[in-house]
Amino acid sequence: MTARAKPLFAANWKMFKGPLEAEEFAGSFSSLYAAHPDRRVAFFPPAISLEAFVRATEQRPDLEAGIQDVHEEVDGAHTGAISALMAAQVGLTWALAGHSERRREFGDDDALVSAKVCRILDSGLKPIVCIGETLEEREAGMLSEVLERQIRAVLASVDGEPLTWAYEPVWAIGTGLTASPDDAGEAHEIVREAIRGGGGGELADSAVILYGGSVKPGNIEQLMAVPGVDGVLVGGASLDPETFASICACSLGAR
Ligand code: PEP
Repeated sequence: MTARAKPLFAANWKMFKGPLEAEEFAGSFSSLYAAHPDRRVAFFPPAISLEAFVRATEQRPDLEAGIQDVHEEVDGAHTGAISALMAAQVGLTWALAGHSERRREFGDDDALVSAKVCRILDSGLKPIVCIGETLEEREAGMLSEVLERQIRAVLASVDGEPLTWAYEPVWAIGTGLTASPDDAGEAHEIVREAIRGGGGGELADSAVILYGGSVKPGNIEQLMAVPGVDGVLVGGASLDPETFASICACSLGAR
């Protein structure tokens, strides 16, 4: 991570919270969490709730927002889909690509994820590229191979733009299992080396790499102390304003 990049605390709400609940959350969270100038906080509500969330946080420019997924094309006859350019019009900063639930449930493979990352960059939004291995892949000793394959596919499609990545071991998402600090540190090192291999030293040094997988108030400080962990992507524990506020306000120690 460059000296200028601040740790990022990102909330993935998945298919939870319609516009009314998103607005209500924004009010509660704003009163529980005071802006910390040394970190960034971003929310990924369902697409239908984005406008309500952005409106409800107008007075809080420190609270950023992003979309959970975009279509891989600029526009067209794709009923139900949303393009990155449309998402950018709502006043967002970020867009996720390649979340494991998209890969598993909707067939987002490496080629599709790469195409989505390109559309996100074209739109002016910042992509967070999610990568990670399944339990079977980890047990088969394929951790490096899987991460390298996912990373190289994206790097081969973009033009050297610095990217934010989220390393999320699939077996730790929504399961209550968290990678140990050693496991997270090892995986983040593999990710940074794979970026170095696929895109060069400058890209690797400037890459922001988040950890995701059952992050909660009880493990956030341990995870943020791992060298190479530049922030977190939080699912379940981001749905409650008090819980997520305590994660975002965690001590960053000597970072
Ligand atoms: C996620 O959805 O990206 C995630 C990490 O979920 P959870 O924190 O619930 O494991």
